[in-house]
Amino acid sequence: MTNPANLKALFDSEAFEREYHCDAPLGAFCAEEGTHFALWAPTAQAVTLRLYGEGHWGEAFACLPLVRGARGLWTADLGDNLDGVYYDYEVTVDGQMRQTADPYARACGANGWRSMVIDLARTDPEGWADDCAPKRQTEDIIYELHVRDFSWDASSGVPEAYRGKYKALTIDGTRRGGKGRTPTCLAHLKHLGVTHVQLLPVYDYGSVDECADPRNPYVFNWGYDPVNYNVPEGSYATDPCHGEVRIRELKEAVQALHRAGLRVVMDVVYNHTYHLDSWLFRTAPWYHYRQNEDGSASNGSGCGSEIATERSMCARYILDSVLYWAEEYHIDGFRFDLMGLMDAPLMERIRAELDRRYGDGEKLVYGEPWTGGTPHARPGTALCHKQQLRHLHTGIGAFCDGLRDAVKGSVFHAREGGFVNGGPFSAQQLEDCIRGYAGPDERDVFSAPSQTIAYLSAHDDWTLWDKLVMTIAGDRRFVPLRGEILRANRLAAATYLCCQGRPFFLGGEEFGRTKLGERNSYRSSLRINRMDWNRAGRCRALVDYYRGLIALRRKLPALYDKGPQAGARLWEVREIGPRAAAVWMDNAGEGSVFGELLLCFNYDQADAYMQLPQGEWTVLADGEDSFLHEHPYTAEGRTRIAGMACLILGR
Ligand code: CA
Repeated sequence: MTNPANLKALFDSEAFEREYHCDAPLGAFCAEEGTHFALWAPTAQAVTLRLYGEGHWGEAFACLPLVRGARGLWTADLGDNLDGVYYDYEVTVDGQMRQTADPYARACGANGWRSMVIDLARTDPEGWADDCAPKRQTEDIIYELHVRDFSWDASSGVPEAYRGKYKALTIDGTRRGGKGRTPTCLAHLKHLGVTHVQLLPVYDYGSVDECADPRNPYVFNWGYDPVNYNVPEGSYATDPCHGEVRIRELKEAVQALHRAGLRVVMDVVYNHTYHLDSWLFRTAPWYHYRQNEDGSASNGSGCGSEIATERSMCARYILDSVLYWAEEYHIDGFRFDLMGLMDAPLMERIRAELDRRYGDGEKLVYGEPWTGGTPHARPGTALCHKQQLRHLHTGIGAFCDGLRDAVKGSVFHAREGGFVNGGPFSAQQLEDCIRGYAGPDERDVFSAPSQTIAYLSAHDDWTLWDKLVMTIAGDRRFVPLRGEILRANRLAAATYLCCQGRPFFLGGEEFGRTKLGERNSYRSSLRINRMDWNRAGRCRALVDYYRGLIALRRKLPALYDKGPQAGARLWEVREIGPRAAAVWMDNAGEGSVFGELLLCFNYDQADAYMQLPQGEWTVLADGEDSFLHEHPYTAEGRTRIAGMACLILGR
């Protein structure tokens, strides 16, 4: 009998990796000549394949043993094309039999308990062979959205049958409530000018019953509980029971986003599984999981399980999965959840393999440089935590918490503010933010702004609006969509959208999205989580302010330069008031109208004044209007920067 502590030693040994690392194709593959099944189960004594006519219920119509080959590989070859047949395995290890779906499944039945043999060619929507991502712009601006909360509300104007579904992402021209003037959903994204959408988990997760009534507002989860890593989530499909439907509908969504000029980033959660008792566990007990010395499960994720990314077959699994989504679904980037638990060599391999196949930097790679607990990786393993970032490839990015907290305050303490809401301010801190915390010094978090994700809001923590309300309005219960909160929101947006790095924001930040002060809404009602498109209508001026800043940024090399020398574009940072500073930058670059850029930020209620560097400057944006670059006016000499406002000038 093997106990978990012995298994840890065995799986950490080089001898095991030498004997059992397997490069054979894994999963189920069908063709006219027959169907091939392959499962990696190195410690199994027996494996049985069971075939079903349906994905959710009914008895197996056939059972047959798999044959053990070298390197822990178990296979079966059947003479028929089993496209559309559902299957699972019984895997016996140390006398204990476990029923399991295929960890390499590419299709499955409702709720993912059974895998499905699939001929993927028949899941391609019309024109899929010609689908390609829109050409890269000067800048990447990432918009985070959740498939269900994006269009669930009737205000989205999306036909009811498609609300909360992949299908909603394919419908262009929607208006608020179906008839208003405000564009919603896809039309809104196009109007706004963002370049990438980042989808919260769209792989199959376990916390939502795929067969539940989609109108029920309590049928909701963010989806950070992976079940089938290589299958789309079924609750976003119009039919979760037929395995091909969710695949086709996600491809249709990607195709429609591409046609709308948007690239698609996927949120991937390889650091933990929904339960420790996953398909990976049931086929190879403990192999894919980090353990404490006593053999119990390590909990660096805070979710009760932690994937051992440094083990070779686990690394292969993750790399295969990323490449599969890139190839089969034309996904343009990956956001790694708790990247601080992923080992650095694997992240480097993922970066290198994506570059080799699709061109340098074509696919975005970034993640969260933190963990949810203390990881227990194999000794000597370098993990992608914050201190490691500057040693990684410049094409591996991470969310910049320093910038986030400096501008609008702590994500842990409701009342602690930042620059825009009464917290500490210093010109030095502002300079760090503008440089995206990137540079040549050891104290810099990143080695280049290509690594920096510059953001103030994401699905986690309070929305930007709620944070501003808590810090500025205090206990006041009714906060109008105007006045000081709105001013602080505009100044916050102007600040991070003028930082080097890649801008990122939670969908709805641009219209003051609120979750009514709820900090962690991962399984809250859709009444909290929904995107309220009526609010987008009421906040059109704020949407326009974001839109103008996005359009402006795309024209300013000082801000979009991602090179390791970009920080040298900061010529001078000057204090111009107790809570105000100006940043003078080199804005030279191809096609750039202005060789110099001057960013002035005033985080005080009182006006600030500064003597502009000699000569005539053009005002590109101020605290009210971010479209001045389309109808600019000039300024020189002593110039006023209004309280709680910015002034962006070019020369
Ligand atoms: Ca699911």
